[in-house]
Order: sequence, then C-alpha cells, then structure tokens
Amino acid sequence: MGPLQIKDILQTAPENQSVVVKGWVRTKRESKNAIFIALNDGSTINNIQAVAEPGQFSAELLLTVTTGSCLKVTGQLIASQGAGQTVEVKISDIEVYGTADPEEYPLQPKKHSLEFLREIAHLRPRTNTFSAILRIRHALAFAVHQYFNDKGFFYLHTPVITASDAEGAGEMFRVTTLDLNNLPRTEEGAINFKEDFFGREANLTVSGQLEGELGAMALSKIYTFGPTFRAENSNTTRHLAEFWMIEPEMAFFELEDNMDLAEDFVKKVITYALINCKDDLNFLQNRLTEEEKSKPQNERSLPLLEKLAFVVDNPFERLTYTEAIDILLKSKPHKEGKFQFPVGWGIDLSSEHERYLVEKHFKKPVILTNYPREIKSFYMKLDEDGKTVRAMDVLFPGIGEIIGGSQREESYEKLLGRVKEIGIDPENLWWYLETRKFGTAPHSGFGLGFERLVQFVTGMGNIRDVIPFPRYPKSAEF
Ligand code: ATP
Ligand code: MN
Repeated sequence: MGPLQIKDILQTAPENQSVVVKGWVRTKRESKNAIFIALNDGSTINNIQAVAEPGQFSAELLLTVTTGSCLKVTGQLIASQGAGQTVEVKISDIEVYGTADPEEYPLQPKKHSLEFLREIAHLRPRTNTFSAILRIRHALAFAVHQYFNDKGFFYLHTPVITASDAEGAGEMFRVTTLDLNNLPRTEEGAINFKEDFFGREANLTVSGQLEGELGAMALSKIYTFGPTFRAENSNTTRHLAEFWMIEPEMAFFELEDNMDLAEDFVKKVITYALINCKDDLNFLQNRLTEEEKSKPQNERSLPLLEKLAFVVDNPFERLTYTEAIDILLKSKPHKEGKFQFPVGWGIDLSSEHERYLVEKHFKKPVILTNYPREIKSFYMKLDEDGKTVRAMDVLFPGIGEIIGGSQREESYEKLLGRVKEIGIDPENLWWYLETRKFGTAPHSGFGLGFERLVQFVTGMGNIRDVIPFPRYPKSAEF
C-alpha cells in the first residue's frame, strides 16, 4: 500500500534495484560533477540523497526543484559514494508534484527562531525540529495506550462538553448556540439558559476525572486521554488553553499505589521513547547542546538523553508537603530573601519553590504528598488529622508539576460536607455523590498533562512548541 517510506528505503541493502521516492526537497546542491537533492517525507529525521548528472535534466525543470518543492523521484538504489549515508538514489526521472517559489516559501535552509516558526505553524512540521517533536509525541501517545492496555486498564471516553462547572480547576470555555446579539432572558432579566442547546449552561471540560471515577467504580481500572480546555489567562511556557490530559482512575488503589503507578508509568513511557525515538532524540539533544553553548559551563544542563536516562534509572523522592515546607524554610534562598513569594505552612507552592526542591535540593523528580486541604480540591480524601488531604503532585526538573493526583474521598458524608463547604450546590453533583452512596470503595487517580511530558522528553522550553497547533490567549489561527 502506497510508496515505500524514506525511513524504510534508508534501511534497504542497495542492489541497483529501482525505487520510487516521494518527498519534499530539503536542499539542492549543484557541483561540477553532480546535482544532489536531499528529500524528506517526514517518516524519519534522515533525508535520502538523490543524485543526478549535470545536463541530465533541463535547466527549466531544475529551477523548479527548490527547497520546499515536492517531488516524485524514480531511480536506482545504490551504495552512497559520499559520507553521511549508506545508500542514495541515482535518479532516472523526476516528477515535480508541487513547486515552492523561493521568493515566497518561508522555510529556507537556515536557522529559524521558534517564535517565527510559531507564526507559520502550518509549515513548521516540515522542519527537522518539529517533525522530530511530532514523531516523539506520537510515540509517547502510543506508549501511553500500550502501557495501560498491558496493565488491564480500559480507555474510557469522557465527554468534552460538560454541564458540571464544579471542578474548580480553572476558568472554563462556554459552549452555547444562543444568539449572542439577542439573548433570551428570564423574567428576572438573567440569561435564560433553558433555551440553550442543552437546556442548561454548558462548557468545555477542564478534566475528565469526575466521569473517570464513575468508570472506575464499575470497570475498576480506567484511563482517559483526551483534550481539556482551560481559559486561564496564563501566558507561561507551561500552560496552554487546549491541552491533552491522561487521567487514570483506579478502584482499590490507595495513595501509595497511586504513587507507584504514576512513577512506573512515567518511567515506562519515557523508556519507550528512548528505545524507539533514538534518531529524533539525538537530533534534539544536539540542538539543545548547540543552544546552550552560549551559557556558562556551570549553568548548562545534562545532555537530553542523560537527563532522560537519569529519570528512568532513579527512584523519585517522596516526601510530604509539610517536610517540603521545612526544607524550604531552611533553604539558602529563603534565608537570603531570594524567593519572590513567602514560604510557610499553608502556602500554595510556587514554581520557584517546586524548582528549588527538584533542581537544587533533591536533583531528581519529587512526589509531594499530603497537602493542606484548603489549597486542594474538594474530592481529595481527608487525612486523619483533618488538616491535610491525600494529594500527590509529581514535580519534574525544568517543568514543575507534571502530574497532580490524589486518593479520592470515598465517604459520602465527608464528601458532601466538603462540597457544601466550598459552596457547590450538591444538586449539581448528584450523580457524582451517588458513587459514594452505592457501593463506594477506596479509589485513586491522577492527571498527567501530556504536553508537559512531551516537553520534558523533547527538552523544549515552551509548551507551545510541542503541540501541532497551540491554543493560547489571542492565538487560534491554524
Ligand atoms: P498548574 O499548577 O501547573 O497550573 P494545575 O494544578 O492547574 O497545574 P491540574 O488541575 O492538577 O493542574 O491538572 C493536572 C495536570 O495537567 C497538571 O499536572 C499539568 O501537567 C497539566 N496541566 C494543567 N494545566 C495545564 C495547562 N493549562 N496546559 C498544559 N498542561 C496543563
Ligand atoms: Mn495540580
């Protein structure tokens, strides 16, 4: 089916056999003795070199073979004469599928800034950097499904449109078919959502967790892997308005089991990428090393592959929030007033605090547990002391929080109490509360931001560069 991919042709023993190669021109180089065309079809970071003799093709045709044009090349697969590749194609015929006027085509063979490439997100997958990222992203997504399937989890499709606004995880995007210029009103003058499509207010989901819990209370182990939407106006390198979240939810798992699963899961999917994405990771590693050359020696980070191997090979540090606060209170930056935000029991850790713990103090991933109840969600199980909840955040170097999870409150009374306490109308969550009324069980789960994982594995500094078409404030062009 379809033509051979360049990835496979490059692995084929050259025996003068005829081959057809289809791909986009990365570069064309003409010397006295030959014309070299580097073709790439996105199946691999590596180009295939196609070689023609001078005079073999008309100048008119060769003028249309430029960076970005798309070709069908027919020829023979031979051992490469030059260094850098084992095989090449001796061209017998060229068909130009599509030209790319060099005056207009924005991707010329030179270094483009990531900011510039974001403005041409429709073309950036044709660069080495973005094609490598997209292939790694795919491999990680595949590894996620494989991991859970192997462990007996079921993939549960939770809704993208939701009427529950109770999760409190962030600002929501409204879904409506009402005419914004002519809104139906109630007698009191409020917007009458009874006339809206769903007969009530609806939004895009910020998390599939609550529905995920319903699944776990029947299938025991489920996971979701879908898009989530947050209208938070955070212009950071770690937040998107639309991102993909992986949320496993397990009946009969306590906090310890939850931590064990989170750690094993992250390590296994990173290992999958290390084994299956070698060329792409090597390319990104070199790119990062190049980028860091301008930094002083002591500020450079570990080479990408070493950093990933380190995370896979070492146990994550586990400690409680209370222990973490003690470490921060005794830390040099705190004593010297170098932290921007104050430290004390009860604070919501800022990214500078998380990064101090991970990057300076422990120098490895950290799982923090048992946070004060006031700063965590209502559904987390209360600890015996009544002050903390059975929460767990996994913190990664360079990223900060990559996973947030908890053991869930399984007691109907306690959960209802928490719901009321934070001012949610229990009526809105009747279905969720019923899981605690009918056959409740200890259970746990977590959410992993997929793009933060891709960011970590690719070493990319900005989350906008690890999703094909990023959504962030004032940007939804492509
Ligand atoms: P943060 O504190 O970093 O904003 P959060 O506490 O709001 O994250 P959770 O609600 O716990 O995040 O969501 C679970 C996971 O989803 C996070 O650990 C993170 O990996 C990811 N995540 C959350 N918000 C975003 C976002 N806006 N863009 C990308 N990933 C996100
Ligand atoms: Mn969180």
